[in-house]
Amino acid sequence: MTVLKLLILGGSGEAADLARALQGDARFDVTLSLAGRTSEPVALPGKLLTGGFGGAEGLAHVLAQEHFHLLVDATHPFAVHMKANAVEAGKIAGTKFLTIRRPPWVQREGDRWIMVENLEAAADAIGEKPRRVFLTTGRMELAPFRSAPQHLYIVRSVEAPSPRELPPRVELIAARGPFKLEDEKALLAERKIEVIVTKNSGGAGAEAKLEAARALSLPVIMVTRPHLPEAPSVETVADALAWLERAHGSTSST
Ligand code: NAP
Repeated sequence: MTVLKLLILGGSGEAADLARALQGDARFDVTLSLAGRTSEPVALPGKLLTGGFGGAEGLAHVLAQEHFHLLVDATHPFAVHMKANAVEAGKIAGTKFLTIRRPPWVQREGDRWIMVENLEAAADAIGEKPRRVFLTTGRMELAPFRSAPQHLYIVRSVEAPSPRELPPRVELIAARGPFKLEDEKALLAERKIEVIVTKNSGGAGAEAKLEAARALSLPVIMVTRPHLPEAPSVETVADALAWLERAHGSTSST
């Protein structure tokens, strides 16, 4: 049986689900790569690389040197540099490439979304008047909110943010999704949240806060998706698995 070497670029729920789905599948020799931002990442099957490659050229070098047959980009939708590097590296190394592009959240009736293109614009959009802001943009992306120090930020992240990044008035919540609607509604009410700031990450795990905002008629400042290069893509882990099946089938029959 042909065994294909697969490199998954991780850091998302899809990457974890894909690694778990391939556990014990002898057709694939799986390596997962993480940026190394989380000190205690969830344990996953397969080999692990951590800490980056040194740009597209560096990743292309690893792909060629380690004889990877397949590359799947399953990084977070806002990991723009890694996503672009993956497309480029796949071309340089001639490695079969797929990216998982999770659909964005879509505004529904009752939503009060304010669309912005980046975090700086999100900080501006909160307005002059001091507000209680639920900030769920991730612990690495808090610095832009230092330019709007009049607000109180309730920051939720998996790990504690660096104090240097923080705006002056913060309350920290350490939590890892998925989150439930009732818990999100309770949190928004208890903390007297007036506005939510989030990136349009999409996916089920973090969607409950949007449903809670709709139920409580709270405004949501939504950072829209970044521009990404064209690439062969699927939306779900199931479709990525089907692509891997086909890739294995075509290799075995040649
Ligand atoms: P980024 O800006 O696109 O990437 C910056 C650099 O980090 C890349 O050039 C690469 O370094 C390294 N890197 C990123 N993902 C990597 C991976 N899976 N394996 C090895 N190196 C990786 O990405 P980011 O926004 O900093 O995100 C870093 C990680 O956190 C990603 O894995 C992403 O899935 C996850 N994450 C991001 C967000 C977000 O909102 N951006 C949210 C949740 C999770 P080299 O150039 O040296 O290879």
